[in-house]
Amino acid sequence: MQPVPSDAFFDALLDWYAQNAPKLPWRLSREPYHIWLAEIMLQQTRIATVLPYYERFLAAFPTVQALAEAPPERVLKLWEGLGYYSRARNLQRAAQRIVSEHQGALPQSVEALLKLPGIGRYTAGAIASIAFGKPAAALDGNVMRVLTRLYDYAEPIERPTAQQQLWQLAEQLARAAPSGSVAAYTQAMMDLGREICTPRAPRCEACPVRAFCRAYVAGTQASRPRRAPKAALPHYLVGAAILSNPRGELLMAQRPPHGLLGGLWEFPQGQARQAETPEAALRRTLHEKLALDATVGELLTKVRHAFTHFKITLHAYACRAERLDAQPLGYADLRWIALADVDQLPIARADRRVIASLRSAQARLL
Ligand code: SF4
Repeated sequence: MQPVPSDAFFDALLDWYAQNAPKLPWRLSREPYHIWLAEIMLQQTRIATVLPYYERFLAAFPTVQALAEAPPERVLKLWEGLGYYSRARNLQRAAQRIVSEHQGALPQSVEALLKLPGIGRYTAGAIASIAFGKPAAALDGNVMRVLTRLYDYAEPIERPTAQQQLWQLAEQLARAAPSGSVAAYTQAMMDLGREICTPRAPRCEACPVRAFCRAYVAGTQASRPRRAPKAALPHYLVGAAILSNPRGELLMAQRPPHGLLGGLWEFPQGQARQAETPEAALRRTLHEKLALDATVGELLTKVRHAFTHFKITLHAYACRAERLDAQPLGYADLRWIALADVDQLPIARADRRVIASLRSAQARLL
């Protein structure tokens, strides 16, 4: 078996990349802003989903300066549906810092990139290597899987020592890549993990670096990377209020700017405490977060949604209140808005599914 890294390893990988690299818009661009934006959008998100968002976002904010100066709600609106909204808020905060501290140009070193909001070790390495050709490691889930197989690495990858060792291996490889081909090397490893060295049933027969792969020789591909057993995600019940005024408009509430789904709009809602039902949680929440005493009526729809670290079942109830003078005590803002116009607001995915359900119920009545 041939060693990794070696000239033969890089030749095989880079030849394969030269022949197979997909013509993605951010790959055709050398503009660091484009590469940064693509890297942020691609976190936890598939390429096919990102493509239209990437085009729309760049059409609206063609420069770092334009992004820095945009109204935050417009940025969130253009991100709506991509999820993980802190990415959008951090992107804009980083753009503002790049304008004020770096004359509008992304810094080139990993150290300086790491100081910007929303840029972690992986993204800093990806930008430094792809946009600026620096020999920096970019270790995401795909590349980590490739490495654990190439080296037949058997430690559970969640362990801090395993993370440290895998980063060291990734850095060693990035430094050994031929100078002038660092950007291609980084992207080749990402593509190899996504297209060939897939989590289940890796396509080893089509793999350009099979001759270097210890897991292939040992027949252990299916059990690499090794993972520690996972705890079940906690599941929360949430009650949401569909409250309408005499004009038929619905009450929407904007979440505070920081934290989960910060700045997005939703139906006023609250999470049930231990033995609480979603109806009781909703009555309490309306009182605490909106200073509103409301009757919680018919259950209109139920929506299940999974976040990274927990799951929710959102119960949307038709509610009635004597007085509609709600106060935004636990929210950044409140707005009455017609169901037909609600898409003007940036809204989280679970609430958009409630809106779709309300619209189909309305269509059935017409
Ligand atoms: S030979 Fe198979 S397991 Fe090894 S890197 Fe290639 S696809 Fe992955």
